[in-house]
Amino acid sequence: MDSDDEDSTTPISYYGMHESRKRLEETGFHPSVTPMAPKEIEKAVIAYLNGQVKREPRKEFYESQRLRLGARNLRKNFNKTRGKGGDKGRDKGRGKGRDKGRIVLTQGPWFNTQNFTNAIVGKDSITHLSGILAVLQHAHAGPLILDEIFKDGHKSVMSLSMTSGRIFGLVGSNIKRWDFTAANYIANPPSSVMVVMVPRYTVGDIREAQEKYPLMIRPEDWHDERRRLEPEDHPDMYKIRSIEVEHVYFRWGNVWRETCQRAAGPYWASEDEVIDPRTDEAAIEWWKGNHRAINVMGSLKPLDKMWSANQLEGNGYKPHMMAYTLAVENLIKLMQELFNARAHIRVLHLHDVPFLDRRVLAIILRGLNLVTMVGIYNCPLIHFGDVIPILDLIHEINIQRRGQNMPEIQDFDFFPHFNKGMPYQHENAATYGLSWSPMPMDIAQRGFYAIILKAVMKSKAMGIGQLFSPTHAFMEYLTKVPNTPLGVYGFLDAIYRYLEVKKDDPTRTNLKLQAIYDLVKPIRLALNDHLADDWPKYYTKVMATTLLCCSSCGYETFEEFFPAGSKNRLPRHRRICGGCHLQRYLDEECDHWKMQKKRLIDKLCPDWKREAFNEDAPLFEDGAGLIRLKSTETERPLPQFPAFVVGGWLRISPYYEPLMRDNKIHFDSLAGLPSLEDVAMDLDTMQRWYSVVILALREDVFRRGIHELRNQYPTDNKKKGIPAYGSTRIDGGAPDHQDELQPKKGYDGKKCFYDQKAALKAAQWMTNRQW
Ligand SMILES: [Zn+2]
Repeated sequence: MDSDDEDSTTPISYYGMHESRKRLEETGFHPSVTPMAPKEIEKAVIAYLNGQVKREPRKEFYESQRLRLGARNLRKNFNKTRGKGGDKGRDKGRGKGRDKGRIVLTQGPWFNTQNFTNAIVGKDSITHLSGILAVLQHAHAGPLILDEIFKDGHKSVMSLSMTSGRIFGLVGSNIKRWDFTAANYIANPPSSVMVVMVPRYTVGDIREAQEKYPLMIRPEDWHDERRRLEPEDHPDMYKIRSIEVEHVYFRWGNVWRETCQRAAGPYWASEDEVIDPRTDEAAIEWWKGNHRAINVMGSLKPLDKMWSANQLEGNGYKPHMMAYTLAVENLIKLMQELFNARAHIRVLHLHDVPFLDRRVLAIILRGLNLVTMVGIYNCPLIHFGDVIPILDLIHEINIQRRGQNMPEIQDFDFFPHFNKGMPYQHENAATYGLSWSPMPMDIAQRGFYAIILKAVMKSKAMGIGQLFSPTHAFMEYLTKVPNTPLGVYGFLDAIYRYLEVKKDDPTRTNLKLQAIYDLVKPIRLALNDHLADDWPKYYTKVMATTLLCCSSCGYETFEEFFPAGSKNRLPRHRRICGGCHLQRYLDEECDHWKMQKKRLIDKLCPDWKREAFNEDAPLFEDGAGLIRLKSTETERPLPQFPAFVVGGWLRISPYYEPLMRDNKIHFDSLAGLPSLEDVAMDLDTMQRWYSVVILALREDVFRRGIHELRNQYPTDNKKKGIPAYGSTRIDGGAPDHQDELQPKKGYDGKKCFYDQKAALKAAQWMTNRQW
């Protein structure tokens, strides 16, 4: 509440869960949130979640995957025998006669898939499309229009493209499309739009190269063939490199199995993690003393001609995973190309790019002076909490551009990485959306909404309307995260209502209180009991009366955004908001080898100042009653106790610690990073990046070593007292693999953040209750 509300004399009117719901039914959501009615949304959410709760058993999942991917290969062969298939227009820029089937294999944005082909059957004949086609093909207007459409984000592009196969082809061939796996363009017309994507391959697709080059048996053969084809930028390059690196990893696996001795037997059986003294010096040096890796390698059974951890072994109907070595190498190539094309790119879309975390993104965006729109879609290392540092980054870039009279970044379309969870039935399998692992509700629910609140206020102040527009990617993400059915909609509705209360409205106190009640409603629904008794005590005496300051980010907001009990449990200068807790939690998630991947990026950025604060993007001023930046101070002064004399007695003044942000708990800093120019041009920086490729190789071998142990020790060996390896690891011995296990929900009695089942239950409960 603002101070000017205190003179409002209107009495506080009755409001509670039922009134809140009734209001919503009568007036609907704010038009900036959604045109849908609450009941419609609930119905849709329940239908969606009903489809999500069931997972197939593991065996059936693999069987249906085999059928699905097998059918894809059959289709591909069918297309080949048909000769010129229906894929004309998408091979442009790749050169003629070169493995035409290649693009057919891949999926992702702008690759035709069967579903797409079915969806657009017959649409080409609709006459009004000819007008759109004519405009898009126009020499001058065409590129400008495409520029604008891409600026509006991926969803707009797709809805245009889906109108017809010809438009799809036209859109795809008139923008720059970069294939991350091949480190090359799929299409490279003169265009200011650049889309980076990662085509998906099956293991069978990669192995096709093995059949194509039957004489290559030894790893050296693959190496030589790669060197031979490299200069001509052959389309088989990625396949050949993928095969070659598997040989290299196996060779290293064999070397380390022999030199990392373990006389005491498999390390998890003996519970002795000390490195065996007979272990070769060179091995310790190569692994940089990483005792876990050394023990993994030393615990392997003797290897024959190849290990099962080679992902090309077994059936080909499974997704192929890009090797880390290649991903890091290709990331550098992408950055070099972006640097080269910096004078042309105005719109940049990044889809699924591996190893692209917020720091790499910052390096890229700071180096592309003309970019005015960026779209980030499902990049595995970019999580929901990154919306804050990315907005701050855009703000920082815009300040600089303003000084140089350059166009600013006006649009930001964002779909953070969405965690679906394990793909098949398992007692731990759950979709949490925000995270892979179960999180405590007290942190996640408060943090989820605290971050949304901050992001709304920042993007509103910066004029980035796209982020929270109902038809763009971020809203799709937010409403996909399992939660209370109307949670995000109601939350945003409450913010917008609050902001629109007029200063001289005589009912402003009630309007604001109602908005605040609805704002904290999804948090309280998840965490508080007795919500039916909110009137009168909570509503009139408690709500909106306590603002706490976060000692990590320096923002001040309602206590509902802080973990329960923060007010009484912690001194006022040591409280930390849910948003900061959640950002840290998401930063520290270690599924899918994320930690090791981020550590590789640490190496790429040796001067990164992890503790630093980013340039705070301003908050929308009218929202100061909801959240404000209280302090940017970080140096806590020494307490001072001035003494004074009263009536002959010496007294000491009480001391109150100042509120400041000297307690930052997450590392969202984007300070001290190399420039894009350095990455592309500076020899030392480039050399450092290439040395990280070698470090990535270590991670590739280590991870395969774990997979191999899981295959070598699939069950308990009671006789020898060796437990199954997978059961000893939280990821089930399958890190960054389809079989990676999710952690169990905690047993500490604390409520866990919504998964799809809990969200369904909440939706049904709330629909019945009319809350
Ligand atoms: Zn905070």
